[in-house]
This record gives sequence, structure tokens and C-alpha cells, in this order.
Amino acid sequence: MRDNILVIGSSGQIGTELVIELRKIYGNDHVVASDIIPSSEEIMSSGPYEKLDVTDADKLLAVVKKHHITQVYLLAAMLSAKAEKNIDFAWKLNMDALFNILNLAKEKIIKKIFWPSSIAVFGPNTKKELTPQCALTEPNTVYGISKLTGERWCEYYFNKFNVDVVSIRYPGLIGWKSEPGGGTTDYAVHIFHEALKNNTYTCFLSEKTTLPMMYMNDAIRATIEIMQTKAENVKIRSSYNIAGCSFNPMQIAAQIKSKQVEFTINYKVDFRQEIASSWPQSIDDSEAMKDWKWKAQCNLEKITHDMLDNLRIKYNISK
Ligand code: NAD
Repeated sequence: MRDNILVIGSSGQIGTELVIELRKIYGNDHVVASDIIPSSEEIMSSGPYEKLDVTDADKLLAVVKKHHITQVYLLAAMLSAKAEKNIDFAWKLNMDALFNILNLAKEKIIKKIFWPSSIAVFGPNTKKELTPQCALTEPNTVYGISKLTGERWCEYYFNKFNVDVVSIRYPGLIGWKSEPGGGTTDYAVHIFHEALKNNTYTCFLSEKTTLPMMYMNDAIRATIEIMQTKAENVKIRSSYNIAGCSFNPMQIAAQIKSKQVEFTINYKVDFRQEIASSWPQSIDDSEAMKDWKWKAQCNLEKITHDMLDNLRIKYNISK
């Protein structure tokens, strides 16, 4: 039997791109997009969409039954910067969403789950360079606490109830097709838009704040690869470290200028600096490489080239 897939949070930064890639692989009719707000025109016009609040367990069950769903990609969450301003709501959304999906698999109503964690599970006392898979996890943000708790529950549901859930700890993600959703690494997307539109950007992180980042193409590929690998290859059922490339605002600004874009960067640090300073600078993803053959392809130069090229087309700006 063919898999039917439900993507929850299809209007967000990742969902916007993931739904389209999944539809290419599984067929448009087999990938149902869902969110509390409408998704992109491309998603809405190319296949099924359901308006769904994932915290509404009854509606969720009805959608799953209606479309004979076998796999769920749960992307709905409140991200790091937004969550610090909505503590109770963020905790409730991030945890209720995950439990609702894990319980569907526990009841054997669905077969497989993808749920993303984040580098936010690490904290200020974690080794910052090449942070290992089993590093100290003492997050000091609501978001990080919710992701670490989620990781523990994923592993628990796998061990106790044989729930086939897989997860990766995304670094900050960069893509040109969609807007970022309120995370601490959003600057690395906004900087490209502002460089082309206004030739200047005011960054909310300081110039030498190095963070692990990843191009969206790599993130989507990692997501689909871990879902498609044989279950026995997945040795870690909490969440895998994955790495793309690491850089700071000064380095990304230099890359933008090297592509003949007239550009100045200014700095006006805000509360997000404290979150960024508590996170790793680079990630050791050797376990993912060993277990399911993960390998990132994009570096900062390629990301800069691709972002500028695609945004020039989007904004109708000539070189
Ligand atoms: P996003 O904020 O861009 O998108 C989340 C989507 O979920 C939004 O479209 C929102 O409308 C939807 N949503 C919110 N509440 C909902 C609800 N109750 N029911 C259904 N949908 C709801 O986030 P994203 O960047 O696409 O991230 C997706 C996942 O990846 C999240 O779990 C996030 O924590 C994780 N992640 C993202 C990054 C990143 O850099 N983008 C990094 C690490 C982890």
C-alpha cells in the first residue's frame, strides 16, 4: 500500500518547501498539507490541504482517517525567539502537538513520524566547538526545554510502545522560498532580502556570533533521507545531530559583498543575542553520517550564490 503523508505546519519556513518535495516523490494526492493558516499558492493549488489546529485531537484524528494517513511530519511549533515572549503558550503548543501525534502512532492509527528537534537543546555549559551527539544538554530557553523534553518522549515512545519516530536537530535554516518563523537565526535569511532591496541590514546578533546553519536544500534532503532509511539504521531515537556549515554575521556580510552587491551591515543587538550565545558554534554529526549516511552539501559560498540568484529573480532585480 502506498503511503499517505500529512505535513502539519505546511505554511511555515520548512513546510513550504517540504510539501513540494514530498509531492514530487509520493504524488500530489498522497501528500496532505495542513496548518492553521493557508499555505503557499503552489501548495494550495497542487494537492490536498486541510485547515488543522494540531492541538485539537478530535479534528486531527478526523483528518488522519479521512486521508488514510500513514506518516506524519510534525512541523508546527513555536520557535525560540517567539517562545521567550509566550512561555505558557509555547510550552503547551510544542508539547501537546507532539503527544497528539505520538499517541496516534501508539494506537497504531499511523505508522511513522518525523518530528524535528533543534540545536536549542544545548545550553551555555555545552562544549561549543563540534558539539558531540551526547553533549551536555542544559537548555535555558523555553523552546530548548520543549525540544529536549520532546526528544526524551520520542525515545520513550519508541522503547515502550515501538513507535517509529525519527528526528534530527536542525541548525538554523536558510532558504529563499519562505520567511523564517521567529527563530534566533532568522537574521541569516533577512540579510539577503535586505541586501538586495535596501543595500543595508541591521543585525540583531553581534558580528562574531558564530552559529551552526544549514541551507534548506540540505535540511529537506536530511528530513526525507532519515524518513526513508531502513528502521534498523536509526540507532538514535531521541534526535540526531546534523551539521551544515558555521559562520557569523561578519562572514555572511563579506560573502554578500564578494558577489558584487553594494552592502553595509550595522549591529543593534537585542534579546536574541543571549539565546545565540548559549548555543553551539559547530556540530559533530558523525553519528548521522555513520548510521544513515548523512552528508551536507552546501557551504556559505554556495548558499550566498544561490540565495542572491533566486531572490534577484523573485524581486525582479538585474545583476
Ligand atoms: P515556522 O514557524 O516557519 O512554521 C510553523 C508553522 O506551524 C506555521 O506555518 C504555523 O502557522 C504552524 N502552526 C502553528 N501553530 C499550529 C497549530 N496549532 N496547528 C497547526 N499548525 C500550526 O517554523 P519552521 O521554521 O518551519 O520550523 C518547523 C519545525 O522545525 C519546528 O518544530 C521548529 O522548531 C523546527 N526547527 C526549525 C529551525 C529553523 O531554523 N527554521 C531550526 C531548528 C528547528
